[in-house]
Amino acid sequence: MKKFILFLMVAILATPKAFALNIFTCEPEWKSLTEEITKDKADIYSATNASQDVHYIQAKPSLIAKIRKADVVVCTGADLEVGWLPLVLRKAGSAKVQEGGENFIYAAQYVPLIEKPTRIDRADGDVHVQGNPHLHLNPYNILKVGKVIADKLSEIDSENGEFYQKNFADFSAKMNSQIKVWEQKALRLKGVNAITNHKNMSYLFDWLKIKTIGTLEPKPGIPATSKHLSELKSLTEQNKVAFIAYAPFESAKPAEWLAKESRVNSIVLPYTIGGSEQVNNLFDLYQVSIDTMLSAKGN
Ligand SMILES: [Zn+2]
Repeated sequence: MKKFILFLMVAILATPKAFALNIFTCEPEWKSLTEEITKDKADIYSATNASQDVHYIQAKPSLIAKIRKADVVVCTGADLEVGWLPLVLRKAGSAKVQEGGENFIYAAQYVPLIEKPTRIDRADGDVHVQGNPHLHLNPYNILKVGKVIADKLSEIDSENGEFYQKNFADFSAKMNSQIKVWEQKALRLKGVNAITNHKNMSYLFDWLKIKTIGTLEPKPGIPATSKHLSELKSLTEQNKVAFIAYAPFESAKPAEWLAKESRVNSIVLPYTIGGSEQVNNLFDLYQVSIDTMLSAKGN
């Protein structure tokens, strides 16, 4: 009898857990946000991780297999994934979810995009023509997109609908109270000048009223040149710059060269979940970003 009970226990433990939903996300921030809503009810996959530049991803077979069985897709949109996601979807062929379909969520459709170009010219580099897609670094945008995800999941998995809505309500309440704390803490950053590698920190800076006065890329998607770096060096001589920031997946070289030449601190901002060891969720993301900027700025 004992043996039989043991056998039963092992059998139960070894049975793969049946998830109510399979969710494919393009970036770790959407995986994390979706997890806050579903907890253990969904199998959530992120196509990319914090060490990858999401503009440039290979349409690997593993991505195709994952998207094929997804019930819901959550990506950024505004052309951020234009280099690989359409190809992954096309190759998946029989995917349950198709671009433009109702279970395909593009975050960019639910938040106001900043930095919309006033003219489109290929000579300007790899410009994001619909506006800046790096929108998750403003927590107000996370709340807007979270609401869309919670409503969608409640609709297609109505059995767990109340659970998803309650989790999102708890998450929003916690996020709203943290936002107040962060905004208070970051008052010292208001109005300071910063240089970034690419305009991928713009929503964080827009939220906290930090000014981007230059980018290490001479044009979007174009790596720093020595001519451009020396122009930035004179810019730092004419303006007080609080820090030079770049993301974990970007080259440290140009930032460090400029930091040394201009005696301005260079910092790595986590950019997304996993972007530093301390960043395991969206709360950590804003907390660590603000702490890093405050310590770089000094007094
Ligand atoms: Zn970009």
